[in-house]
Amino acid sequence: MSALRELLKAAIALPIVLVVGFVAYVLFVMGPIGWIGLAVLTFGVAWLYGEWTGDPRDRDAAVDRVSCPECGARNEADAPGCDYCGASLVD
Ligand SMILES: [Zn+2]
Repeated sequence: MSALRELLKAAIALPIVLVVGFVAYVLFVMGPIGWIGLAVLTFGVAWLYGEWTGDPRDRDAAVDRVSCPECGARNEADAPGCDYCGASLVD
């Protein structure tokens, strides 16, 4: 049974060692310029992902908003009164 456990451990460890070794080898071969390129690529993908999925604040900005005449707070254009001071937003 012990031999089987050792075999199982090797079967799990081998792919990990291969992947880590491969990544380390690729990083080594690329050199500093490759690392910078990889970092730029990673940030670029992250930025694009953020652009595609959209920021909740951007969606909020798309809603029409008006300033309260009393306190200046921003409220949704179709709100009957100010969320902050209660002043009427309807003329
Ligand atoms: Zn107000």
